[in-house]
Amino acid sequence: MKWVNHEIVTGVIVYAVVQEPLLALYSMAGAILPDKLEGNPRSGNYWSWRSRHRGWSHWPMLYGLLLGLQLEIMGGGKLSSLTDMLTIGTYLCLGALLHIAEDALCGKVPFITPWQKIGVKLFSVGSVTEYLFAIVLVLVCYIIHIQFVIE
Ligand SMILES: [Zn+2]
Repeated sequence: MKWVNHEIVTGVIVYAVVQEPLLALYSMAGAILPDKLEGNPRSGNYWSWRSRHRGWSHWPMLYGLLLGLQLEIMGGGKLSSLTDMLTIGTYLCLGALLHIAEDALCGKVPFITPWQKIGVKLFSVGSVTEYLFAIVLVLVCYIIHIQFVIE
């Protein structure tokens, strides 16, 4: 999925759930984190980048572990001075996990181990179908959001 669609879909999903623009913004930063960790495919050796593409940086267990650790620290009430940082980190991890789920809809990503990849190819990255898919997801979130907010 293109970064613009990762940002929009992730931000809209998180906003629809938590209804906090700032938290949606943190998740939008996390929505490009897995690709950012891989580096830029245009700088350096493309094939070196390609061999790392959707590798450990797209391993959901990594972000799940970081998310769990942050929630454990926040839930315990320890280190309350770090609550803001932990909240940002939590939503960065949620954004990264949504990025990986979104990538799993247009190719394969790691799952249990970094080298065992799963996914479906509903559309090609950058295709018209991807943009239509993103629009439909946004509309579904909007419809679900107004159903719960208005009632
Ligand atoms: Zn990706």
